[in-house]
Amino acid sequence: MKIGVPKEIKNHEYRVGLTPDSVRELIHRGHEVFVETTAGEAIGFTDDLYQNSGGQICPTAEDVFEQSELIIKVKEPQPSEVALLTPQHTLFTYLHLAPDHDLTDSLIASGATCIAYETVTDEQGRLPLLAPMSEIAGRMAVQAGAHSLEMEGGGRGVLLAGASGVPAAEVLVLGAGVVGANALSVAVGMGAHVTVMDTSMPRLRQLDQQYGNRVSTLYSTRTALDDYMAKADLVIGAVLLPGASAPKLIKYSHLNSMKRRAVIVDVAIDQGGCAESSRITTHDNPVFIEENVVHYCVANMPGAVARTSTLALNNAVLPFAITLADHGIKSALMSDPHLLAGLNVYRGELVSPEVADSQNRSF
Ligand code: NAD
Repeated sequence: MKIGVPKEIKNHEYRVGLTPDSVRELIHRGHEVFVETTAGEAIGFTDDLYQNSGGQICPTAEDVFEQSELIIKVKEPQPSEVALLTPQHTLFTYLHLAPDHDLTDSLIASGATCIAYETVTDEQGRLPLLAPMSEIAGRMAVQAGAHSLEMEGGGRGVLLAGASGVPAAEVLVLGAGVVGANALSVAVGMGAHVTVMDTSMPRLRQLDQQYGNRVSTLYSTRTALDDYMAKADLVIGAVLLPGASAPKLIKYSHLNSMKRRAVIVDVAIDQGGCAESSRITTHDNPVFIEENVVHYCVANMPGAVARTSTLALNNAVLPFAITLADHGIKSALMSDPHLLAGLNVYRGELVSPEVADSQNRSF
């Protein structure tokens, strides 16, 4: 199959759809890969590396789209990319169509087939192409929180690990899913005193067994939250109600009870945030202070570590890319229910009930 990798053009996006190693795997299986020039340059994947892997470098995105049947990207297509999509194309990327009426309309109009990373499933019903980004955001959350706790970051001047004779910082992790478990592991590693809250007893039990008394697990209730918000130096918001906006667990009243210049890292900001006071920030200007609490609310945290994110995403995407390329799009979709779960638009027809539902479209 002919596979295309255009350069990402969304603002501040440095990730790339396929690494040179992934290109090599696909070439080895008899496929052809067309990569737009400098697609991976910013993260050290030069045109030479792609060529050494057997990829063919194209001077423009137009060339990539013209040559290819399967387009592998990272972010949702921007208008200039949608304009290049035709019924010959299958697009495999993050789409997040539910809230995006315009993009849905334009993908339908293109006649292309569109498979969304974020709705591909695995045998346990989890979302394997979302998990690597949650893993990275969880790990980064502690790094971002530690920096924000420093005087320079606007914080209260507290070191997570404390010092001899000085207690470690109190870290509260709200949500013990992929983000929460990864944040917890880094916070423990950095020597903080960590409490994790969730409404899922199986998740809490698992972490309790894993960490013993090195972390406190706590069933999430209003009372527990009131108590622990007041004690925390750093709060990491990592809750998710699948398909819905994040629950606003942290109220304005909690901010008043918090220590002066404590920090909230609201990772759930991409789903609206789990604090009433959260609003989206960017890597250029990641924090703001409200009610004397420092808020870090970057919605695309993994973008800051684009190389690690690209490698992690490729590990998850490559097996599905191989299935699509080896079997052909239609038979790959028919033979793999997990890949089929990712299908949002088929040859210009919306086939995702969830997207249709959320946009009040007939289906
Ligand atoms: P997940 O489904 O693995 O975990 C969410 C957890 O929240 C679950 O364990 C669930 O039981 C728990 N939860 C739900 N309601 C709760 C409540 N009231 N109190 C306590 N716990 C509750 O999800 P995830 O992959 O860990 O993602 C968490 C959030 O991080 C999502 O909103 C996701 O979109 C977001 N995220 C953001 C970025 C970013 O760059 N900002 C990157 C990746 C993921």
